[in-house]
Amino acid sequence: MEWIITANPSGKHGYKVLEAFEDLQYVDWHMSRPQKNIREGDIVYIYVGKPYSKIMLMTKCVKDNISKSEESLDELKYYNDFNSFEHKDGSIFFRLKELARMDDERLNIATLNKKEYVKGNIQGSFKSDNNTELFKYIEQCFSVETIEKEYEDLTNEISDAGKKYTDVIVKARIGQGAYRDALIEKYDCKCMLCGIKMKSVLMASHIKEFAVSTKAESTDVNNGLVLCANHDKLFDQHLISFDSSGDIIISSQITDEQYDDLGISELSHIEVDAAVEPYMRYHRKQLK
Ligand SMILES: [Zn+2]
Repeated sequence: MEWIITANPSGKHGYKVLEAFEDLQYVDWHMSRPQKNIREGDIVYIYVGKPYSKIMLMTKCVKDNISKSEESLDELKYYNDFNSFEHKDGSIFFRLKELARMDDERLNIATLNKKEYVKGNIQGSFKSDNNTELFKYIEQCFSVETIEKEYEDLTNEISDAGKKYTDVIVKARIGQGAYRDALIEKYDCKCMLCGIKMKSVLMASHIKEFAVSTKAESTDVNNGLVLCANHDKLFDQHLISFDSSGDIIISSQITDEQYDDLGISELSHIEVDAAVEPYMRYHRKQLK
């Protein structure tokens, strides 16, 4: 489940939510009535009120049902008026960890009103099962942000480990991160070649390798394919590629007799749009 909750940084009862998440590893959030179903694993977006009036934080609930005695004290200093603030003994909290933040006009209240995703102000909490379009839109805005963050983390990790580990690190990180999620979403959670719908065997790979791609290329979903483990390996090893219309090109290193076993044929085809072609052109040149 996904949620939007609100935080007001200004005024007497304000809470400096951006600073809190910046400084702390996680924030324990007081659970009000409409939020009582937020559970561990849920994605929680935070709408930050004036002067921002935007959805700015993407967080994940990492623990629910926290009692007052377990609540972290660190974060209380982020209330504008700490003294006026007191949580009752029976209060329940949920723990949020920041995944991404953005300050983007696409997510301000005026834009959300104009696009008719939200009527009037955001108050209380919204949940995804009755606001499908709104949450789809927010996810799109944030996926760009999370993929970029993933890219930064990845390049840092590579520079620490040394260039020769690039392929291993990229495979491992891309294999479980935001880029894979975005691709799987884009291509309907199935192998683009054989159509197998089994998320656990699907791999997301760059068409033009990470090591030779620019940042813009590495974070572009058009530079990625979703294939099952077998087909991913064939593509990765340059034993298959695709022409500009998505028809398969098979390396002469694969014999006709192996086609069946590998689940490919001369007629195999993937559906791709034109934006994929510049990357595919690069890949084709390396066919073995
Ligand atoms: Zn496949």
